[in-house]
Amino acid sequence: MSVETDVIPLAKPVLGREEEDRVLEVLRSGHLSLGPRVPAFEQAFAERLGAAHASAVSSGTAGLHLALRAAGVSEGDEVVTSPFSFVASANAILYERATPVFADIDPVTLNIDPAAAATAITERTSALLPVHIFGYPADTPALERHGLPIVEDACEALGASHPDGVAVGGRGHPAVFAFYANKQITTGEGGLIALGDAAHKERIDSERNQGRAPDMGWLDHDRLGFNYRLSDIACALGLAQLGRLDQMLADRARVAAAYRTAFAADPVEDLTLPCEDHDGNVRGWFVFVVQLPHAVDRDETIRALAARGIQSKPYLPAIHLMSFYRERFGHREGQFPVCEDVAARSIALPFFPAMTEGQVARVTQELRGVLAGAPAA
Ligand SMILES: *Cc1c(COP(=O)(O)O)cnc(C)c1O
Repeated sequence: MSVETDVIPLAKPVLGREEEDRVLEVLRSGHLSLGPRVPAFEQAFAERLGAAHASAVSSGTAGLHLALRAAGVSEGDEVVTSPFSFVASANAILYERATPVFADIDPVTLNIDPAAAATAITERTSALLPVHIFGYPADTPALERHGLPIVEDACEALGASHPDGVAVGGRGHPAVFAFYANKQITTGEGGLIALGDAAHKERIDSERNQGRAPDMGWLDHDRLGFNYRLSDIACALGLAQLGRLDQMLADRARVAAAYRTAFAADPVEDLTLPCEDHDGNVRGWFVFVVQLPHAVDRDETIRALAARGIQSKPYLPAIHLMSFYRERFGHREGQFPVCEDVAARSIALPFFPAMTEGQVARVTQELRGVLAGAPAA
């Protein structure tokens, strides 16, 4: 085996004949955009979640932007959100000249701590933006008690559900999903907003298409808009991926269980695994992120794993400590201690539906070797 084929990648999409056939069909139809696959994908996705509506958009980030606009967030507002997320969730707030106000996370679920969120709310707070990080449901029911608009970043949480049995994204708040190649389903690039409110859907569908009203002539635009459309090619891919979603989610859950078994067989002291489902929450598996022991150099561990053919990645850095956010808002270490501790120690290990138990065993064995200070074989 060559060194290259020997590397275990961080992520790998499942793509097959169904995807190829559906994309070819679109190419042969000549109808590549604003065609029938867009509403077909939206309908299938909404049905899957039990959401009333869905709007497909060009990325998760575009979806967050339009969802915040639909929720009424505007210049000078504050939006309470998690500092432990992919940077897009905070950036989207800045697109509307509003301020992301961070609240620390729960050390077990790694989602925004509802008590910290409550403390962060002021009279300028116009929305709450929970992130279902690593596919584990944020405590949205607790946030709903404030009566403020909620926009959910569900980009990592397809397949997750809340204690009341409602799918993450199916509560009626604008909830954003993403389809980059490492997500539960992929369209290459893409996103979708699940919605409960028909007026929100109308506004979002217009704003993703240059502000054009659905019943207007080609060049008549009654509001500011963007080009955040998703192509028919991408939606055809999305339909094929939805068809295999249950199998892919089951495979991700199988790989996660294999990791737990492998670590349990020979536990590493002070290594924290992703939390188990509890209190009726169900995770939609997205990544397998572990927190390394406190004494370990995380970045050195990543380099040592790479030398052994194992891809891994810091996952995720704290948003408030990124240089842009430090400079713009004067953030500093110590503001959100739980987030900072977790962010400093977290690494994503290889995790994808086709991963074999042998590969899981190799990852855990190499990680043990690195942590024990053994030289690479
Ligand atoms: C993937 C992701 C997004 C959006 O990503 P895009 O690349 O814009 O599709 C947003 N938030 C979180 C937490 C994500 O993981």
